[in-house]
Order: sequence, then C-alpha cells, then structure tokens
Amino acid sequence: MITPKPEIGIVWFKRDLRLTDHEPLKKAIESGLPLLLIRFFEPQVESDDHFHPRHWQFAYHCLNDVNNRIPNGGKLYPLYCDAEVGFRYLSSQFTIKTIWSHEETGVDITYTRDKNLAAFFKFELIQWVESQTNGIIRGVKDRTNWTKKWFAVHASETQNPDLQNLRTVNLTDDQVIKLGSWNLPELYQQYPSHFQKAGEKEAMSTLASFLYDRSSFYNAHISKPLDSRQSCSRLSVHLTWGSISMRQVYQAAKKAKDEAANKRNIASFMSRLQWHCHFIQKFEMEPRLEFENANRGFDDIRTEIDDYKLQAWRNGKTGYPMVDACMRCVNETGYLNFRMRAMLVSFLTHHLWQPWQAGSKHLGKQFLDFEPGIHFSQFQMQAGTHGINTIRIYNPIKQSIDHDSEGVFLKQWLPELSNVPVELIHEPWKMTPLEQKMYNVEIGSDYPAPIVSDIKASYKNASSILWAKKSDPLVKEENQRILKTHVRRGKG
Ligand SMILES: Cc1cc2nc3c(=O)[nH]c(=O)nc-3n(C[C@H](O)[C@H](O)[C@H](O)COP(=O)(O)OP(=O)(O)OC[C@H]3O[C@@H](n4cnc5c(N)ncnc54)[C@H](O)[C@@H]3O)c2cc1C
Repeated sequence: MITPKPEIGIVWFKRDLRLTDHEPLKKAIESGLPLLLIRFFEPQVESDDHFHPRHWQFAYHCLNDVNNRIPNGGKLYPLYCDAEVGFRYLSSQFTIKTIWSHEETGVDITYTRDKNLAAFFKFELIQWVESQTNGIIRGVKDRTNWTKKWFAVHASETQNPDLQNLRTVNLTDDQVIKLGSWNLPELYQQYPSHFQKAGEKEAMSTLASFLYDRSSFYNAHISKPLDSRQSCSRLSVHLTWGSISMRQVYQAAKKAKDEAANKRNIASFMSRLQWHCHFIQKFEMEPRLEFENANRGFDDIRTEIDDYKLQAWRNGKTGYPMVDACMRCVNETGYLNFRMRAMLVSFLTHHLWQPWQAGSKHLGKQFLDFEPGIHFSQFQMQAGTHGINTIRIYNPIKQSIDHDSEGVFLKQWLPELSNVPVELIHEPWKMTPLEQKMYNVEIGSDYPAPIVSDIKASYKNASSILWAKKSDPLVKEENQRILKTHVRRGKG
C-alpha cells in the first residue's frame, strides 16, 4: 500500500532572515498547516559574479540567529542546492499545499529562477503566496501615488507572527542529505570579525544605538570615510538581508525623531529610507538596468575596457591615495560610506573612462550590503548614464583633503605611506626623491605613480563629452521616457 505524502506548507526565507514583521511566516502559521521552514544557499546564484562568500556568511549567520530563537524546537533548514532542484525533490516527498515567501527584487539569475518556479508551482498545483517587500510594488508601469502608498505601508502595523502557534516539520536525515544541507561549505559557517555582525538581534541593537546615540553627528560626518562608520546607521546590510524590515526601521526612527531635541539628523536619515525603496522600485520596473545604460543615448561612449586600469582600480593601486584607501577598505571590511562609493565609481567612469559595467560586479562582491536595485541605479547615476541627473565628477584629491584632512584614514589603509607627513600625503607624487627617501617610500615602486597623470585634463575630457550628450536627440528622447516612468507623481 502506498502511504500518502504528508500535507505541509513551506515558508521560503529569502532576504528576510528574521522572526518579527514577517508576513509570510505570520500567514503560514495562521493557516494551521505543519510548516517546513527553509532557506536555500544556491550554487547557481553563488556563481553569479556580483556575489562573494561574505554574502553567504552573513546570510548563514542570520539564519543561525533565527534558529537560536525559534521556540518549540522548530528549525529553519539551510539547504545547499538550487531552489528549482530543491522544490522538485520536496514535492516528491510532501504534498505541498502552499508556499509563503516575500517578493524579491534581485539580479537576473534570481528573477529567472522565480519565473521558472512560478511555472513549476502552477503545474504542480502548489499555491505560492508572495508578500510585498518594503513597499516595492510589482507590475506597475509608472509611479502614480507611489510615495503615498509607501508611507501607508510603513505606517501600518508590523506583521508579527505568533510563534507560540508554530508547528514545524522535521526533515529526515535522508531528506537533509538529498537537499545538500550537509554539503554546505565550511567557509559559510565561519565569520570574519572585520565584517558587521549578523542577525536580527544585532540589527535591533544597531538601530537603537544609532537612533539614541550615534546619530548626533549623522549629517556632519556623513561624507567622512572614517567617522561615518560610527555616525551613519550601518543598517544597510541588515535591510539587504532582511534581518530587519524597513517598516521596523521607519517606525522606530519616527518615534525617536518625535522625542529628539535635534530632529534634523534623524529627519535626513529617514529621507534616505525612502530613497532605498525608490531605487529598488526603479529596478523592479526596469531589470535591464543590471546590464544596460538607463538612457540608451549613452551606449556609444566608454565602449572599451582597459584591463590594466581596471586591475589598478580593483586592487587599490591607482596612485591616488583616497581612491586606493577606499578600495582597500571596502575589499577588506565590506563597507564604505556613500560619498566614497560615489567617488570610486566617478574615478572609474570619468577619470579612467571605463564603462560602469566594468566595475559594478567587483563592488557588488565587496559590499556586504549589495542590494541590486540601489547598486545599479547608483552606479549609473555616478556614471551619468541616466541622463537626467546633474553631472558630478569628483576630484579625488579634493575629497581627500576635505574629508580626511589629517590623513588618518589614508594611513590606516596605505601602510606604504605611513611615514609621509600630512602636507604631502594627499598628493604623494609631489615628493622629491630626497623626501621619498626620508619618508621611506619610493613612488612608482613601493606605492604606484598616479595612473591618471593629469586629473584636471581627465575631468575636462569627461565633462565635455557628457555635456555634449545633453543635446543628443536620443538622450533627450530617453530622458522623457525615464521621467515618465520613474518620477514619483501624485500627492504625498
Ligand atoms: C555606487 C554606489 C553603490 C551603492 N550600492 C549600494 C548597495 O548595494 N546597497 C545599499 O544598501 N546601498 C548602496 N549604496 C547607497 C549607500 O552608499 C548605502 O546605502 C549607505 O552607505 C549605507 O550605509 P548606512 O546604512 O550607514 O546608511 P545611512 O546613511 O545610515 O542611511 C540609512 C539607509 O538609507 C538607505 N540609503 C542611504 N543612502 C542611500 C542612497 N544614496 N541610495 C539609496 N538608499 C540609501 C540605506 O538603506 C541605508 O541603510 C550605494 C551607493 C553608491 C554611490
């Protein structure tokens, strides 16, 4: 006699690794079904060039944090196989009634996976219930009333699951083996101490320490590569991997702002929360931004990649101290403040005149908070390929003097320059041979000579090409399309 397959529901955790404000988990518990809680670590997704093991290490440690807090002996299973393979196997073992998950606005590889799975679930008569993520609206053609809806979502009640009623399904050893859990790379289970700590508990304490302590210098230090590490919220990585929801951050910030004597810092932080979702909405509506220029009128510029320049940029060996220090810092720690991210892209696309696509994978890999929607839009904004934004070309020497005048950040990341006095550190190539001897560094040998010999000339070149583009008929036509699609309209 064939035993019937057990009937279950599945909660598919993606980039929402938390137990509070989690609508899919809440709805799943309310269904009364026994639930299997899973999170895939997918070899196919991991092979995408925007990702780095550091991302899976962070996700894995968020998952551990969830597992440490699930009541009633429940477990969130890490599965090491592609989701399509995993769901096919699970459907051979169980009668899956419903799958609950959040919608994900991801890179092409996860978007394609989700489309394939939607077709598979439909064929297998499995219901897939997706909840909206952070106010991002699927399937819209323009931004009518988008802001109003965003505020409504973020002011609404958080969706906290009643964990006491959670009834979980346990997998057998054989099922766990088939789903690859025991093959999960050892590396993911380690966690380098120089990355931000993972997990929902950590996200909550980062939020509280920012709102009630660290935010007092938020505006004053936002552009400084060293001080901003303390004075900015550092919530981006938690928002990316979902160890906190945007609604939780927004509501806590609103409360702190209402209570604060100086409201300006928290107010400017809050405006950025909406930018976060604005950029992801843009990408949700135009996923081609991962590969193509937002404004097609820019397709005929920066068409060639120079590997030598690219390597120097990636490795922090351009000879421009602030560019190199920022790159080495982000390569090592996974974090950099907004202004310095912008400067790195500006240097690559304007001064080195490389296509933004040549650098977006490298920085995607390095940013622990890699969020496709923000990442591709910001890369293109800095490169000027949206066409509608003001052209900004950062001078790396000015950024260095303005935001690290004493060279403390530079010396932390460029040990070759540790003996160079502050008046020479921003432009070390100006040292005479005697000074180089005195300060124990030979330019061109210990530290590179500048890869761009005349920064004013490279600025002028980029600026004249980009300004000329403003009157290109295709650029103008594309500007109209971009404004019509992505500019927020309606009240609120
Ligand atoms: C080239 C480039 C690539 C970027 N890639 C990413 C990325 O992959 N992931 C990412 O989260 N941010 C990205 N940013 C935006 C920004 O640099 C980071 O969000 C910010 O530095 C994170 O630090 P924080 O959490 O302390 O920010 P805070 O200043 O404390 O801001 C709070 C939150 O607001 C959002 N936010 C802040 N600035 C921006 C912005 N300019 N655009 C959109 N949202 C913003 C983030 O969610 C951030 O956590 C990028 C910026 C540039 C120039």
